[in-house]
Amino acid sequence: MKFQPTASHFINGAYVEDTSGAPIDVIYPATGNVIARLHSATPDIVNQALTSAKNAQADWAALSGTERGRVLRRAADIMRERNRELSILETHDTGKPLQETLVADATSGADALEYFGGLAASLTGEHIPLGGGDFVYTIREALGVCVGIGAWNYPTQIACWKGAPALACGNTMVFKPSETTPLSALQVAEILIEAGAPKGVYNVIQGYGDVGASLVTDPRVAKVSLTGSVPTGRKVYAAAADGMKHVTMELGGKSPMIVFDDADIENAVSGAILGNFYSSGQVCSNGTRVFVQKGIKEAFLKRLSERLENAIIGDPLDENVNFGPMVSENQLNIALSYVEKGKADGALLVYGGTRIEGNGYYMQPTVFADVTDDMAIAREEIFGPVMSVLDFDTEQEVLARANDTEFGLAAGVFTNDLTRAHRVVAGFEAGTCYINTYNLAPVEAPFGGSKMSGVGRENSKLAINHFSEMKTVYVSMNDVEAPY
Ligand code: NDP
Repeated sequence: MKFQPTASHFINGAYVEDTSGAPIDVIYPATGNVIARLHSATPDIVNQALTSAKNAQADWAALSGTERGRVLRRAADIMRERNRELSILETHDTGKPLQETLVADATSGADALEYFGGLAASLTGEHIPLGGGDFVYTIREALGVCVGIGAWNYPTQIACWKGAPALACGNTMVFKPSETTPLSALQVAEILIEAGAPKGVYNVIQGYGDVGASLVTDPRVAKVSLTGSVPTGRKVYAAAADGMKHVTMELGGKSPMIVFDDADIENAVSGAILGNFYSSGQVCSNGTRVFVQKGIKEAFLKRLSERLENAIIGDPLDENVNFGPMVSENQLNIALSYVEKGKADGALLVYGGTRIEGNGYYMQPTVFADVTDDMAIAREEIFGPVMSVLDFDTEQEVLARANDTEFGLAAGVFTNDLTRAHRVVAGFEAGTCYINTYNLAPVEAPFGGSKMSGVGRENSKLAINHFSEMKTVYVSMNDVEAPY
């Protein structure tokens, strides 16, 4: 098999296999063919990975930030040099078109390694002067062993978005990718070793949810960072709470995108396309509830349908193709079941809606109009290429409806009225907001959700606070006064 890795797991700087673990078949979503066979981690493998991370942590944290940063920046360079090869692997793992993976996966992972590599040398505590000459200084310390658990839509990116800030702060990591897309995190682990990371600093083990669960409850683990669905997030957060572990939860969404009638329609349609159909709709922050002001509804839908005719659906390895298969048959069936629910609830199917026959897990980009707030397609995360268009009249009305969801990951507004744009954004109950664009996530900006969409932030300087803690040191320059 062309994409068979040396072994399933990467522990203490080397590939490790244990074929007694449950098999994991890696399927290329464009054909349905098995491209690799791996094995889920046994309790012994889990133990080896955690032991390796635990043993490596103190020495890694004892290096200067400059030295740790140098390793991360070298790893970023290697990832960029190998971008094409890594992108081809990512396309086979996820089914996402090469046109996308070449610019959004290893490159985004490299950005995180470079950014946090650059920050590592400047991570410090502070000096706090007190009265009478006393003072406090704080020491920024690593948390210890961190666990990263990933979803299947951006496997390389997630492995790096979690690994880079963790390592920059002096932590070590055990990362478990989704069993649907297990291949690319192994490459990240290899590259870090090649870049000079000591053995055991970044380990990868494969497995189903039970492996993730056993990592979360292990007493050696100080922090858990999960990218996944809300139901999984609830379980992982609760399990972590029992051990009082730090958490970052990057969970699902049902984000609103509001298009006012003064918006530039071409830009709004572009935003709706990016925010619903990039990666075949398998993006957590997607703006899947598109609220369009009544005056431009017809023009918006007409232009959207025209533009969707230009989607090139097909072999993801063909760089002209810009719309690929869904990651798995299961995910395809979930998305198709929502199409049926939309129809049954009375929404108007204006584009797509069917599976594309032949090999692979393809469906058409799909648009429903006349969607109302109570329909399942407007309330539940589909995680597929299904856009719901809802009408509205006024700003006050649409903002209340946009916020009427348990999720709070992202939100966007398209308007040429600047004061309205900022007013609407101020009212959004969401962690990541957009004005006249959608779904950009540069490493310099905090990314994460409010409400049920998560806890904590990834990327930016804020991520440092989620992978380190402060030790406070009070220094007395005076005699000690005691009451007796
Ligand atoms: P899941 O929640 O099903 O799984 C996420 C990860 O958690 C997988 O590696 C999974 O393993 C693991 N897992 C499952 N159960 C447990 C458990 N009890 N304890 C520990 N780990 C467990 O999500 P998907 O992989 O299906 O990804 C899609 C979801 O991810 C969507 O809801 C999407 O919105 C969200 N997402 C959020 C992002 C964000 O940044 N906010 C970005 C990308 C996706 P296994 O797969 O082997 O079961």
